[in-house]
Amino acid sequence: MTEEFNTTFVVPNDTWAECPNVVIVRGDLIHPIVSGNKLYKLEPHFKNAKNLNKSLIVSVGGRYSNHLHALAWMGNDRGIATIGFVRSYSGQSVTPTMLDCAQWGMQLKYIEPRVYDERYETSFWSQIEKDYPDSYAIAEGGWSEDSILGSSQWWSSIPIGTNLVVTAVGSGTTLAGLLLSAPQGVKVVGVPVYRDPTGYQDLRDSLHKLGISPSQYELWPGYAGKGFGRSSAQLKQFADAFWSQTGVQLDPVYNVKSFHALHDKLLNQRAFGDLKIAILHTGGLQGLRS
Ligand SMILES: *Cc1c(COP(=O)(O)O)cnc(C)c1O
Repeated sequence: MTEEFNTTFVVPNDTWAECPNVVIVRGDLIHPIVSGNKLYKLEPHFKNAKNLNKSLIVSVGGRYSNHLHALAWMGNDRGIATIGFVRSYSGQSVTPTMLDCAQWGMQLKYIEPRVYDERYETSFWSQIEKDYPDSYAIAEGGWSEDSILGSSQWWSSIPIGTNLVVTAVGSGTTLAGLLLSAPQGVKVVGVPVYRDPTGYQDLRDSLHKLGISPSQYELWPGYAGKGFGRSSAQLKQFADAFWSQTGVQLDPVYNVKSFHALHDKLLNQRAFGDLKIAILHTGGLQGLRS
């Protein structure tokens, strides 16, 4: 049983020599294969499932999903059965992500993309509830009170005295978790990995509903490249250079964008040089295998 994760993975300041005032919070090292960010988000759901006496957790994701991967691992670790509904066209090959999931005992159910597209509809989940009456369901990457709570765990590995914390933003759950437990005066920065302006507005609205004031955080626009899940030659080049300079590998969907954003602010815009900064490495490297 791994009730607590190892949360001591803070890399010394000199790892990223160009940015000596930055520490990298190595969420990618919390577990040798599974990503930190998703483990943190899942933790409270496992507690709930246990309290509700559920012996099965179901969720949904893509073929390279960090979320399903973490869920399968944790289900195996905690002795709870898991089912993953996986977006797939018929005939698509099995990914290393799915092989891991299966090996950890997750039952995989492949669903057509048009079915997967309904995953935010209540009908999608009521069907699952009908088919698996005693299951505990988790929405994909979902913004939920529990996942937000779990994301507060990051603070245990952020050095005391940090003035600014930077994280990539997908659903914004990690950002919200950081903000809800932020020490007084610490600013939290989110780097959205998507371009959609309604995404920005929805995020601001959701944070507002949690009672978070806009003065507590910043969103840095303009660093999502061509948009969600899309890379570019510039980002790839940044990730390659970063990896060879620091020995730290960045995933192409999330961390390459947040690290590139911070690098740009510090070196090109000469901002924040007087602050103690921590940037979260939210993991996701398992998805790189093909
Ligand atoms: C899901 C994920 C994120 C995004 O986190 P949110 O809490 O959804 O904003 C960031 N990094 C990695 C590696 C992820 O898998």
